[in-house]
Amino acid sequence: MANIETQQSLSSLLCTDERDFLIRNNGDQVPVSELTGKMVGLYFSAHWCPPCRAFTPKLIQVYNELKQNGESLEIVFLSSDRNQQGFEEYYASMPWLALPFGDKVKKDLSQYFQIRGIPSLIMIGPDGKTVRKDGATIVRVHGAKAYPFTDACVAVLNKELEAAVEKYPKQTKHELHEHSLELTRRKQYMCNGCEDAGCSWSYYCQGCDFDLHPDCALKDKHSDGNENKAGEVICEGDAFRRV
Ligand SMILES: [Zn+2]
Ligand SMILES: [Zn+2]
Repeated sequence: MANIETQQSLSSLLCTDERDFLIRNNGDQVPVSELTGKMVGLYFSAHWCPPCRAFTPKLIQVYNELKQNGESLEIVFLSSDRNQQGFEEYYASMPWLALPFGDKVKKDLSQYFQIRGIPSLIMIGPDGKTVRKDGATIVRVHGAKAYPFTDACVAVLNKELEAAVEKYPKQTKHELHEHSLELTRRKQYMCNGCEDAGCSWSYYCQGCDFDLHPDCALKDKHSDGNENKAGEVICEGDAFRRV
């Protein structure tokens, strides 16, 4: 296994004997060799999966931000959609590359990276080696600041997050839930506000197993100091990203 990983490269991951290209959503083919030297995110996702639909707009936002900053980054969509039409509809919303739908490499990579659920984002460094497998979590929590996704970078961001959490109220009320919500350290959860996954901290009602991202729970209060303006959108695309 160690041997496979040391020999890992973008072409060993993404090419087959018959195919050495990826596609754009206009049908153009892009040689895998054009990605050499870039950071590449392998994005396992499907339109039928609600957490994927919630996460994709965030990832697009982070991708566009990093591109605008001139970072050398590409993302490759590996579809778990059920058919070609589902794939095409979903992929039309994405600005990055994809493996052709139904290509066997997708299944091989799912096994190789031991993908247990989607959305998953595997970050591959400019040298073709794996940087981290929890890219989706890191993007959710830290947004574009997480680039280049190294442990050192994420450790600094996590420290900043912990310092920010210190200042959050220990309890809050939210119109989506009748009980008071307690700031709770949670490993993994689904936010009952924006329906995307969350981790590390939640405003939680234990009796009902009800979770809100801190940003979703505090959003209206953050914005201008007014408490809970009724009718306001609770979660938008950048929910749970640090400012
Ligand atoms: Zn949320
Ligand atoms: Zn409750």
